[in-house]
Amino acid sequence: MSSSPTPDTARPATKRVRSDHDHSKASTKASETTRENGHSDHPDSKESNHEDVDWLKEAPFFMGKSREGWTTKWRESCWCGKTAFVYDEDPLQVKICHCEDCQRLHGAPFQQAAVFHKKNVRLDSGPEFISFLSAHGEVHPISSTPSPLPRKISCKACGSPLMDEGKNMIMAFPPCFEFARTHKEVNKSREKGEEISGAGEGRKQSQEDGNGGEKKIGLPDAFKPSSHIFYERRLFDIKDGLVKWRGHKEESEKMGEEEK
Ligand SMILES: [Zn+2]
Ligand SMILES: [Zn+2]
Repeated sequence: MSSSPTPDTARPATKRVRSDHDHSKASTKASETTRENGHSDHPDSKESNHEDVDWLKEAPFFMGKSREGWTTKWRESCWCGKTAFVYDEDPLQVKICHCEDCQRLHGAPFQQAAVFHKKNVRLDSGPEFISFLSAHGEVHPISSTPSPLPRKISCKACGSPLMDEGKNMIMAFPPCFEFARTHKEVNKSREKGEEISGAGEGRKQSQEDGNGGEKKIGLPDAFKPSSHIFYERRLFDIKDGLVKWRGHKEESEKMGEEEK
């Protein structure tokens, strides 16, 4: 299996097929909206349009900054593909949060968060669809310009949450990373008789795979959670043998997997 070389410039996001459902209608609608608004996905136009926007020049965006010395290791993109970030390191830690805020904001029973330093993140798409939500103390409605930290960054074209941004660190959401193979991709490889690397088999994640790079089934080791936090607020028990904290990690007591 060969992986394409990592481009050293920002490139327009591409639509990925994430499941067997027909999502084509939604993505067509999104691209029509883009055209109507006069935005372009062309890489040349997007940087020149946003040259004067200060927040885009700073972490975790670094738009227009030289990529000398940068090697993309991981790529994260939203469901519609219009907003993407790249990472040049593995996450520092990965945990699962069961708090009610995460449940509501993600519409999911829990949130999986991979912690990175901001310096290891860059925007890899146009900024047109970035939106911010701050809900610390006072709630600031979702906005196209940065609201106070900490804030959540999502794609306003499709609504996918992409990261929580703090002062120095960000927490990204592993389900949005492009390492996961879709069922279609797996089936195609099987038809071609290619070897499928997957969850049970060593999972040797390539160090040089940018742009989603080498595709695997399941999470690469670097993205496997090490603990659960706010476990007492869980919607159901998770019997995975990982450490369960009642509240914040190392600031609360540990819990049993079935303990209330
Ligand atoms: Zn999107
Ligand atoms: Zn939470």
